[in-house]
Order: sequence, then C-alpha cells, then structure tokens
Amino acid sequence: MEQAYVLIVDDDTALLQALPQAIRLRLPEVQVETTDSAFKALDLVRKHAYDAIISDIKMPGMDGLALLAQIQELRPATPTLLITGHGDHNLAIQALRGGAYDFIQKPIDRDYFAAALYRAIQTHQLRRQVAEQQRVLEAHAKLLEQTVQERTRELVEANAAKDEFISIASHELKTPLSSLKGMTQLLHRRLERAGSSETPYLANMENSIRRIEVLVNDLLNISFVEMGLFTLHCSRCDMGALCRSLVDEYVMGTNPHPVVTLEVPDAPVEVAVDIERMDQVIINLLANARKYSLAHIPIRVTVTQSDDTCTISVCDSGIGIAPEVLPHVFERFYRVPGVEVQTGSSVGFGLGLYISKQIVEHHGGHMDVQSTLDTGSIFSIVLPLLSSDPADSEPETPSFQKKLYEEA
Ligand code: ADP
Repeated sequence: MEQAYVLIVDDDTALLQALPQAIRLRLPEVQVETTDSAFKALDLVRKHAYDAIISDIKMPGMDGLALLAQIQELRPATPTLLITGHGDHNLAIQALRGGAYDFIQKPIDRDYFAAALYRAIQTHQLRRQVAEQQRVLEAHAKLLEQTVQERTRELVEANAAKDEFISIASHELKTPLSSLKGMTQLLHRRLERAGSSETPYLANMENSIRRIEVLVNDLLNISFVEMGLFTLHCSRCDMGALCRSLVDEYVMGTNPHPVVTLEVPDAPVEVAVDIERMDQVIINLLANARKYSLAHIPIRVTVTQSDDTCTISVCDSGIGIAPEVLPHVFERFYRVPGVEVQTGSSVGFGLGLYISKQIVEHHGGHMDVQSTLDTGSIFSIVLPLLSSDPADSEPETPSFQKKLYEEA
C-alpha cells in the first residue's frame, strides 16, 4: 500500500484517540487526521482528498448518515466507513444503501477495523491508479489520433504530388518518344533499303524504345485511372474470335515466337467490351506468362462460357507465385520481390495487373489468379455475357462509358 491519508470523525474523544493509535500500530503507512464534528469534517473534506473517511453514525448536530450524503456529493470516489452501535442493523443497512463502503460495529474489534480500513484504502488507491492510467491512455490515444491525422494528410498530399508528377512526366515523355520511334523506324527502313550492315543497331534501338514505350504507357494509363479520365467504349464482340486474333498478333509480333495454344468454344461467346482496353488486358497477361516462364514452354489460353459469364484464362507453367504474396499481385506498383524474369525484358513498374483489374472491373467483371510456386499460374478474366434476349441485343454502351475510378 502507498502512503495513505485518512480522516476519523467522532464526538467520542476517547475513541478519537484510541482509533488512530490502533491504526498506527497496524498500518504504519497511514496518516490519520481526526475531528469531533461532521461540520468540521466537511470543511476538511472540501480541502483534502482523503484515501478513506471513518465516521461515527450517531453524532449531535449532523449525524454520520447526513455527512455520508455530503461526502458522496463532494468526493464520490472516497470510501466512507460508518461506525454503528452494537446490533444496530437498520442503521448499518441504511449506511450501505447511502453509499458507505463498509460499517464497523461497536465495540470496535481493532483488527477487524484495521482490515476494513486497509481494504477501503486499497480499493481507493487502485481506482485512482486505474483512473490515472485511463487518463494517460486517453491522452496517448488522442496524440496517436492527431499523429495519424497528420500523417494521413501528408500522405494524401504526397500521393497527389506523385499523381501529378506521373501525369506530367508521362505526358511529356509520350510525344518525343513517339517521334523518336517514328524516326528510328524510318531510318531503319532506309538503311535496310540501302543494304547497310548497321541495321542490327537500329533494331536494338527500336527494342529499347519499345521497352520505354511500355513503361510510359503504364504511367499514362495509371495517371488516367487516378484522374478518372479513363473511358470505355464498348461494342458487342465474340471473345473467341477476339482471342484468336490477339494470340496470332502476339505470337507474330514477339521474337522468338512463343508457343501459345488456344481453346475456344465453337459457338460465339458474346460480350460487350472496349476492344482496345480488353486487348491491353489479355496482351498483358500473355506478356506476363511469357516473362515469368521459360521461352520454349507453351502458354495456354482458354475461353469458356457458363450460364452468364465468359472466362478467359491465360495459363503458364512458369515460376508461379508464392501463396503469401499472391494476394498482392493486383496492387498498384507491386512486384514480387526477388523474382527474376525468365524470358525477355524485366521492364515493368508492377502496374500491369493493377490496370488490368481496373479495366475488367469497369466492364462489370473481375479477375482471378491461381498459382503454385515452381509450377505455374492461371490468370483469369471473368466477364458478364451479353444477354441472348433480342431486346438486349445491343450493348448499353453509355453504361459502360463510365469513367474508370469515378468513385476516387
Ligand atoms: P510487372 O510489370 O512487374 O510485370 P504486373 O502488375 O504485371 O507488373 O505483375 C505484378 C507482379 O506479379 C510481377 O512483378 C510478378 O512478380 C508477378 N506476376 C505476374 N504475372 C505472373 C506470372 N504469370 N507468373 C509469375 N509471376 C507473375
């Protein structure tokens, strides 16, 4: 027990001397103050915060019960013990009902009295400690809240500055890059026609430009997404036919030509998509499948149809993705740490899957991934099928012309 301070109120001067003596012997850490009337006691209670108050009930002027009521108002947390006459059960009950912590019967058993006082002081000190800790915790929580608010504001500002930077940088890079690309292609053709031996250098330059173009396009796309300027222009199309032409285009345009097998249903699989954007998503999945598997291992593309959805899956037998990082692959700027690209260039910002997911979700669909480390991955695009009802035969283009990220 810490150092404690108690008040004894009794008009019986003999008891007023005997009780402090009993306390001193049994509870040396307790300092005692005494007074012989409830009125004087109230003055003291107003001035000091005692750890406990002991008062006789029967006193002239103001009795112990009236004093108890006043203490309850002035110092509700201070435990008060009332001294009752022998067998005065009614008064004892009244005292407890009035909020007394305990009652002590006359003749006073000194050990019982000390034990009751000890309990009262300890309860009070514990309550005080709890209240103090609560106050410290609340102050700490407030400080934390302020810090979180400040950091959030800083992050929001930094994020806005980053978005603005990406937007400006990608727009500024796009034009000179396009003219550089055009001029390099022109030069390449001229040197080829002239039979020059320098053409491989130009081919290397074109490859480098293509890689920069991929990065700049990713940055441009992300800045469109973030600024809500990304619109979809949907039209009815057969997903099987779209995948067939895309796969052909991808294989012919990639060196060395990758092996891509395609399985599509015989009947058309009708969906409403922004063809350019959906090409972008599928090509991104094909490029990832190639990047993260060895060059000679085939990639499989399947188009399947259920009651109301169409699923396009790109399956590779590549390095796969560990289960603990799999949930993050669709996040912005996320690249699996420590992963080495198996085929082609490692160029990328970790934006391809994020942008793909945004595009698919704004078509009313979603993306899935299943992957096993060292075995391979299946990335799927699930899109709503167009209704076969003739009344719905035309896609509702305006509803698909929503701005991507319009909720942002
Ligand atoms: P990146 O430009 O880095 O390829 P993406 O958003 O397309 O960005 O992919 C995010 C990360 O997911 C990649 O860095 C890679 O670690 C992992 N990933 C994507 N596709 C595959 C795949 N087919 N096989 C294994 N890992 C993949």
